[in-house]
Amino acid sequence: MTLSSWQERAAALRPDGRMLIDGQRCASTSGQTFDKRSPVDGRLLGAVAQAQAADVDRAVASARAAFDDGRWSRQPPAARKKVLQKFAEGLLAATDELALLETLDMGKPIRFSRSVDVPAAARCIAWYAEAIDKVYDEIAPTGPSALALITREPMGVVGAIVPWNYPMIMAAWKLGPALAAGNCVVLKPSEKSPYTAMRMAEIAVEAGLPPAVFNAVPGFGHEAGEALALHPDVDAIGFTGSTRVGRRMLAYAGQSNLKRVYNELGGKSAFLVFPDFDDLDRAAETAAGSMYFNQGESCNAPSRLLVHEAIADDFVARVARHAPAYAPADPLDEATVMGAVVDEGQLRTVMGYIASGQEEGARCVAGGRQARADSGGVYVEPTVFDQVRSDMRIAREEIFGPVLSVIRFRDEAHAIALANDSPYGLQASVWSSHIDRAHRVARALRAGTVHVNQYDEDDITVPFGGYKQSGNGRDKSLHAFDKYTELKTTWLRINA
Ligand code: NAD
Repeated sequence: MTLSSWQERAAALRPDGRMLIDGQRCASTSGQTFDKRSPVDGRLLGAVAQAQAADVDRAVASARAAFDDGRWSRQPPAARKKVLQKFAEGLLAATDELALLETLDMGKPIRFSRSVDVPAAARCIAWYAEAIDKVYDEIAPTGPSALALITREPMGVVGAIVPWNYPMIMAAWKLGPALAAGNCVVLKPSEKSPYTAMRMAEIAVEAGLPPAVFNAVPGFGHEAGEALALHPDVDAIGFTGSTRVGRRMLAYAGQSNLKRVYNELGGKSAFLVFPDFDDLDRAAETAAGSMYFNQGESCNAPSRLLVHEAIADDFVARVARHAPAYAPADPLDEATVMGAVVDEGQLRTVMGYIASGQEEGARCVAGGRQARADSGGVYVEPTVFDQVRSDMRIAREEIFGPVLSVIRFRDEAHAIALANDSPYGLQASVWSSHIDRAHRVARALRAGTVHVNQYDEDDITVPFGGYKQSGNGRDKSLHAFDKYTELKTTWLRINA
């Protein structure tokens, strides 16, 4: 579609910001709303229901009633599968609408919200739909006088609290396994990207998901988010967001009902390039591509580039040459690969980190400035800092913007020590043509996923999550069922 067609659609859009509870759109109990502006050009998108404790109570009570009467949890897995398959098809059928909402809401390029976000969310739902009538429970190796069943049962009501960087995908990573396993879900999207969550819930109801099995309540973290995480009738929280708020999730569970808390948190992933790698051009292109994808607002962005000192000057020059290809442009133009950062607050955070890199003595070799200010939106140039020391803030803290920090290493041991010198442990990547080295280093890295000679090529079949302060539990793959099911032992005596 042309830029002007997308602009026309955007101008005509009147997104519905009301909550979705019991299969119905509704205003918040207090009637309060908050204004949602687009980071693309500052336009007002509309008023969004500001859910508070009373609304969360309603959503949880309706989900609890739905869980307890078994309208979903007691349907055969094959029946749940059919509904969830239709849900996935419904998402795909609404691709243009959902993609436009996502782009206007949080600034990512329309080409990626169409080609990545909507299909990946749909694929995730479809994958768990397909899986649920193929996973078996266990029978323990008892003696002849007993039969012991080890079965998985749904937890009950799952609260899903998600961030703004991949709103639909992060929601789908919770919804897929939680719904397939028979739970009911209350989804709290980020206040910075609320719209697609309610549309997803509506599409699920249209696909045949019984009302109240999936409720969506938009609102602020300290109001709706806190109320959900503290709620005594919520059995588990699937949280994706910052490490700062992840700590609170654990505290909320402690203060309330010891609900299960699964945290998918921040990262500062290391990308290690050894001089023996035989295609440094591809490594440099991947380093830039994975760093700047989604405006650098990816939890697993390889934001620490660790390069052997013998090749560092050459490699940094190659990466910096790629940076201009990611210059921010109009997210509604299908040619654009870098869009707007999510809001003014995030812009200030990113620019603050760029200033701190300069003050601490790192060398800015690409970017470093705000861009497209005349658009009314919020944009940052793709930025590369060379000569970064591992004690600098830009080496230690998650920036969540298009800023790459390059640190040089002397040898393999030094590279591993630098990579592991972080409170985070989400992902890492090793680039070496030497299979022993690649495998040795991959084993030594304290990260939930280690990529070798590629980045970001993994899919829904493998777990995603972090070591250390990047979280606990895993999204994606069959392991995600561990989060949303309880293990039950049933020991039966058999009289001979
Ligand atoms: P955030 O922690 O500020 O917010 C995440 C969600 O928590 C939002 O819905 C927000 O409203 C809610 N929230 C905020 N304060 C709360 C509180 N006191 N009580 C309850 N809920 C509260 O994070 P963000 O800025 O939206 O997202 C960026 C962060 O998410 C980054 O740190 C990024 O690394 C992380 N992230 C991690 C993964 C992963 O899989 N590990 C994936 C995507 C993003």
